Amino acid sequence: MSGDSEEKTSGKGSRLGFIGERRANRRIRVLRQVVGWTRLLARLDGSDEAFIALAPFFKRYFAVDGFALWVREPGRWQLVFAWPPVLEEVTPRQLSWRGGQPATPREAFATPPGMTCRLDLLIAQQSSLPLGWLTLLRQADESFTVRERNLLHKLMGLFAAHLSAQVRVRDAEAQAMTDVLTGIWNRRYFEERYPAELQRARRYRRSLAVLMIDIDCFKSYNDTHGHLAGDQALQAVAQLLKNNLRTSDILCRYGGEEFVVLLPESDLEHALLAAEKLRREVAAEFLPINRSQTGGRLTISIGVSACPENGEGEMELLHQADRALYTAKKGGRNRVMGTEVTARSALALEAAQQGDRPAFMK
Ligand code: GH3
Ligand code: MG
Ligand code: MG
Repeated sequence: MSGDSEEKTSGKGSRLGFIGERRANRRIRVLRQVVGWTRLLARLDGSDEAFIALAPFFKRYFAVDGFALWVREPGRWQLVFAWPPVLEEVTPRQLSWRGGQPATPREAFATPPGMTCRLDLLIAQQSSLPLGWLTLLRQADESFTVRERNLLHKLMGLFAAHLSAQVRVRDAEAQAMTDVLTGIWNRRYFEERYPAELQRARRYRRSLAVLMIDIDCFKSYNDTHGHLAGDQALQAVAQLLKNNLRTSDILCRYGGEEFVVLLPESDLEHALLAAEKLRREVAAEFLPINRSQTGGRLTISIGVSACPENGEGEMELLHQADRALYTAKKGGRNRVMGTEVTARSALALEAAQQGDRPAFMK
């Protein structure tokens, strides 16, 4: 009897021990996943190399065959990474917000062919705006279990804390590189971005153009209307330049009444045309004070250079654009000049100045 009861007790005990052990093992596994996840997050610096490290993690612990990650940007979700690479081709780059409300990936991203099961996870911190979405995909028709979902929600909480810290750093950096008066990039930003853009252009054998822009006779504008009106004029010119550039162009206040623009993927001919468009728009626009020099309008002069036509060196290109600007000023202001104006680009510029575009530019 006693033996029996002893056996039963020890049997129960060992069963309990076994269950306890299983629980402990599961707990260890979960903790390992969390530790692995925090290690991964520490490496996420926005680069593709870092995001790609997420792939083996989700594959190993959640049997995932693909995933897409969006982060919140003003008015849209921006795709920052999709894996495997083939998924990049079928994933929208951006998901626009509708009526002020974000269209979530759940609504706006159709499950890609070949994937049967999906889980859309919101990346958010409590009581603040969502920071992103992560869509996990499986080829097999196997739903994510409650345990998996719970763990993933925990991981997304950690992800949100990480992303929000990154967003704060990014905002602070952007603030330090924004010109207070005009709201466009400042010279510090230009000095960081210019070498990087030029390096990219040289590495991939792409074009990069530089525009140096200076407001004409701005001293006399200030003298006539006062510095406050001068400030307003500077803001208006900056806005006008911004409105007439592509979103991929980089507009910076270089100092005082001078601006510099980087035009990625633009050769000298296109840069001269873009500059001419800016010159024309500024000349045509009435400034806040409707009684300035030369008929109540302000004008700008622009010097243009481009890589590779005018060289590939940082100083070389800037110097060439500056020299061209000087020539434009000497030539009477309110004009666009390039240093090495080729026959084709001269033709293009001349036609643009007459309000027409030559056939090869159409
Ligand atoms: P040019 O056509 O040869 O460029 O003549 P300019 O009068 O524009 O050139 P100059 O270099 O002689 O004068 C630049 C003027 O720009 C002088 C300065 O008062 C004005 N300026 C520079 N920064 C600011 C600013 O932030 N606000 C205002 N209101 N004026 C500024
Ligand atoms: Mg100047
Ligand atoms: Mg000036």
